[in-house]
Amino acid sequence: MAAITVEGLTAWINGYAALITEHQAELTELDSPIGDADHGLNMNRGMTAVLAAIGATPPTTAEALFKGVAMTMISTVGGASGPLYGTFFLRLGMTAGAESELDLVSFGTALRAGLDGVISRGKAQPGDKTMIDALGPAIEAWQREAASGASPGEAASAAFAAAEAGRDATTPMIARKGRASYVGERSAGHTDPGAASSALLFQALRDVLGAGA
Ligand code: ADP
Ligand code: MG
Repeated sequence: MAAITVEGLTAWINGYAALITEHQAELTELDSPIGDADHGLNMNRGMTAVLAAIGATPPTTAEALFKGVAMTMISTVGGASGPLYGTFFLRLGMTAGAESELDLVSFGTALRAGLDGVISRGKAQPGDKTMIDALGPAIEAWQREAASGASPGEAASAAFAAAEAGRDATTPMIARKGRASYVGERSAGHTDPGAASSALLFQALRDVLGAGA
């Protein structure tokens, strides 16, 4: 059965950090009309710190990798997205366990636990115009592909496509959670920044697993 190694998972996180830096200005721009124009800055601060931590001590298990990502994000990101992404990675790591590789179904179960953590912490429902509108469909797609015996590259491509569609679907939504909910109906017509950063997470996964890690 196909497996994802801790080296592959580490490459995923490194790739995500690179994409966040690349898209920092765009994420901040999305956060301007419906937020406080700091999402790109917040995420870049967090992921740059994650890169440094991983580089200093390369993790040998999925649990160590993701718990480290979580702790670094919680302590450095600031804003609502810090504890939410922190919870995502913490639950992901706890569910993945002290393994040096994961099969696709187990990774899907761990991703789902991460999403459930975000939902129980932030209390957002699908359609509230948040990161869960990208994470949810992406993880659903991953689990569906994994259950049907897809390759890592196929599962990651399907998850990224679903994340992009989920991100784009936030544009007409009226925000009901977070800072964007303060502008009410005027939030419609703007893509949610957290959904955009979540789509990048699955772009990074597609980039790594599409290449056969
Ligand atoms: P802040 O809103 O504190 O400035 P950021 O700008 O870094 O924090 O992050 C904003 C993003 O966080 C939003 O675009 C949204 O996707 C996400 N978010 C905010 N509140 C919630 C929530 N309760 N549940 C899920 N995601 C949320
Ligand atoms: Mg903000």
